[in-house]
Amino acid sequence: MRFDQFGFEQEILRAIGKVGYEKPTPVQTAAIPKAMQGHDLITIAQTGTGKTAAFAWPLLHRLAGGFRAGKVRGLRALILAPTRELALQIAESVRSYGRHLPVRVAAIHGGVDEFAQIRSLRKGAHIVVATPGRLLDLLENERMDLRGVDYLVLDEADRMLDMGFLPDIETIVSQLPKRRQTLMFSATFPREVESLARRFLREPKLVQIGRRSNPAETVDQAVYEVPAHLKGPLLLELLRMPRFRRVLVFVKMKEGADRLTGFLEAAGVRVAKLHSSRSQDQRLAALQRFKNGEVQVLVATDIMARGMDIEGVSQVVNYDFPVNPEDYIHRIGRTGRAEARGEAVSFVPPEDLNLLGILELFIGERLSRRRIQAFDYRAPKQPRDPLAAQPIRDWRKRTREAEAKRAAQPAAKPKPAAPPPARKGKQENRNRTGPGGR
Ligand code: AMP
Repeated sequence: MRFDQFGFEQEILRAIGKVGYEKPTPVQTAAIPKAMQGHDLITIAQTGTGKTAAFAWPLLHRLAGGFRAGKVRGLRALILAPTRELALQIAESVRSYGRHLPVRVAAIHGGVDEFAQIRSLRKGAHIVVATPGRLLDLLENERMDLRGVDYLVLDEADRMLDMGFLPDIETIVSQLPKRRQTLMFSATFPREVESLARRFLREPKLVQIGRRSNPAETVDQAVYEVPAHLKGPLLLELLRMPRFRRVLVFVKMKEGADRLTGFLEAAGVRVAKLHSSRSQDQRLAALQRFKNGEVQVLVATDIMARGMDIEGVSQVVNYDFPVNPEDYIHRIGRTGRAEARGEAVSFVPPEDLNLLGILELFIGERLSRRRIQAFDYRAPKQPRDPLAAQPIRDWRKRTREAEAKRAAQPAAKPKPAAPPPARKGKQENRNRTGPGGR
């Protein structure tokens, strides 16, 4: 698509020519025609995709016609953004795109003296770019009149909600005319954003660049609260369930990936690993074996998982809970692709419960807690934790051998020499559940 196909007024096209862009970005190509038709819009796009222009150009186009007809008086558009930095950046972009128009843009944000901002409003701003808190202060002091606003932009809506701006946004929007065009931009699409859209937008069109960042619709997410030393046994229990066919397991560090891979191999699980200390050939081979079903499990670190596109991953397991919510979103996006159903399972030991809380705030929902009924969540830590020891020994096999040896010994012998792994064997038996045993 070319810029002149949007139907923009000459003043806008000249400004675009001046900044030197060659062609519209994907978000601009997708969103601008809908915005130009007057639709409300929900756009899921990250910063850096050219989204500011996607809402600024249609707005300036509309104002350009108004200026020509002498109809633009007072405040016409309100752009809400979460931070002062973003508000300033947007205001600057809008000014530069509107350089051939007599448009006045005011930035209203906290952290500076109110009076300069009030002065710029008094001069008669046509567009206000504001953070919700300061804008509300000015509204409460009756320093502003929003009755002429017919174009509202909620930028980075998810961040505004994260920062607790919902009540402010509600108050502000309640003072706007009902007849208006509203454009909402968000990097993720949690339920709160969806609910905001339902209340404030009218029959919005959805524009989504790339994958929806919150794959809640196609991924069934669950949390297992489990002590750290039982994460390995719990994973083995899950892997026994038939639906765990192609399982991508995320760990924090490559040493952890090596240990877990060894542990799973020793337990008879077909597994490959992917981390940055492996050669390119090894990585490709591991991926290939996972893709063609030769192995059931791929253990990977976050770095290696970036950009990986594997179809048919039935489960993502967060063996180590991700520190950043973004990593969580990214990880679980590896399953449930192309509208297929996927499952994401996260192990959360007590020390990671705070991270879980942060994540739930970020995605705007509480994840369901699950337990495997017959699993012994109180099993004590083993003196030699198989996941801490190197090299990993096949303790199941050794347990079986020890038991067989004991059974073969004459009953009269008072005390068979029980090898230490026998305790693990008992624990494993206690923890064993059949497929689907939740
Ligand atoms: P934004 O996502 O609005 O923060 O924009 C990110 C960067 O992309 C800004 O530096 C814009 O100047 C730039 N930009 C916006 N539209 C285009 C375009 N069509 N071609 C190239 N760069 C663009």
